[in-house]
Amino acid sequence: MSGVTIGMKPRVTQQGIEKGLRDLGLGEGDIVLLHSSLSSFGMVEGGARAVVDAFLSVLGESGTLVVPTFGALGVVTEVVREDPRAVLSNHPIAGVAAIGAAAEEICKDHWRAETAHGEGTPYLRIAERGGYVCLAGVDQDRNTTLHTAEELLGVPYMKDRTVTFVTEEGEVTRSVRRFPGPHRDFIGLDRLFRQRGILRVGRIGSAVIRLMRSREMIDVCVEAGRADPAFALCDNPNCTDCVGQRADIRRDRLSRESFTLVASSGLAGRTVAEMVDNLKANGLDHVELDMLQGQPAHCLNDEQLRTAVRALRDCGVGVSSVRSASAPDCATELMDMARDCGVARVVLPLSEEARTHATLAAQRGLRLSLFNNIQGSEQASQMLLALRQEGLEVGFTFSAASFARAGERPFLFSYKQKLRQFIDQLDLEDICFDGTAQPLAFGNAELKEMVSMLRCASFDGPMVLTAGNGQVGDLGSAVERFEALLDTM
Ligand SMILES: [Zn+2]
Repeated sequence: MSGVTIGMKPRVTQQGIEKGLRDLGLGEGDIVLLHSSLSSFGMVEGGARAVVDAFLSVLGESGTLVVPTFGALGVVTEVVREDPRAVLSNHPIAGVAAIGAAAEEICKDHWRAETAHGEGTPYLRIAERGGYVCLAGVDQDRNTTLHTAEELLGVPYMKDRTVTFVTEEGEVTRSVRRFPGPHRDFIGLDRLFRQRGILRVGRIGSAVIRLMRSREMIDVCVEAGRADPAFALCDNPNCTDCVGQRADIRRDRLSRESFTLVASSGLAGRTVAEMVDNLKANGLDHVELDMLQGQPAHCLNDEQLRTAVRALRDCGVGVSSVRSASAPDCATELMDMARDCGVARVVLPLSEEARTHATLAAQRGLRLSLFNNIQGSEQASQMLLALRQEGLEVGFTFSAASFARAGERPFLFSYKQKLRQFIDQLDLEDICFDGTAQPLAFGNAELKEMVSMLRCASFDGPMVLTAGNGQVGDLGSAVERFEALLDTM
């Protein structure tokens, strides 16, 4: 016979558990926050009581055993909580029960803390006292102290929630930081802990026991979170929890930039509903309306444009401008529509009609921005200067891709042709000199230089992920590329 005993649960005794814990390095005076599953051990003689007694025996009079008292409570938690020696921390969403020398100081005034798991909570106090987190037959998904790292980092996906509960000072209502989650990839952090050598793993009965110094674990997470605020999130594109939390991280990051990141409506989606979903999933709140349901903006009627702008605004999406890719025959109508919808900016190509367009815009109190398409930079700057000399104020949408298409080096040459003073928008689109579309900063549009230069001057206009990006990917990949570009600055 081989040693395979499928379905046979090992028998475990209190002495066996004690030995297993000592082998892992636990001893007299230690503080342990225990997350456990009794059934993972096998058949424990004496049940949950034996598990608790084993821990108390190993930790001794001077040690402390702590268990969480929220969520799906196991029998081990019940035994600790109902023990006459137990001290309870009063907290509506993150309470613990503790037995031992440090129980009082660990639990004290938990409810007064700013956050559920940070400063002034049992979780950080255990870390500060050199305590451990022990996962007995459960994985990192149950490791509540990982929230401590998230709270210390102030990850942008935390939200406030108001809760009312009873304390020794009567009923109190407090705002506590909450995680909208619920999903995280805490399981995935196990690998990081192993790699960093801070995880001790053993086995008692059939339960895999993980033991970590709480402080070391928090420090490793904080370091990982500083490098990547999404360190605790999964990368499953169909996990709506993590997609939403990643969008919160990006929105937070972009909010610290002087410019506004905007997406072409054509790139964001065909319908308004599709655009909104796509923009939200990518942490963006602004579109430039160039296309709607397959139609260019200048072909839309008043009603279509008005309905779209209102629907977008109702969903929290701002329309930075209405754009026409070609010089419209009906510029008057387009501008009337923009004004009537409350969109203050119109973006049109720089053309022979520029003077007429500028006049129409001025009459309607609209801001007109003109983008280069076929012109070289010298011609573009002459046209813009001529308009200014006539008293017509227009902005310039710098299309680095179009300059590259015209055979110029957009930053090293075009940008320096007196164009800088006019720029009120940067189009984020890249191509090679031969005209083939490229992901951002993979072509010859010198976007890194352009973005960096504008950031240095606290450029506060829109940077627009144009429809052209659709040739090399979707909105998601364009935003990712742009973010990767910012990462390299
Ligand atoms: Zn997820």
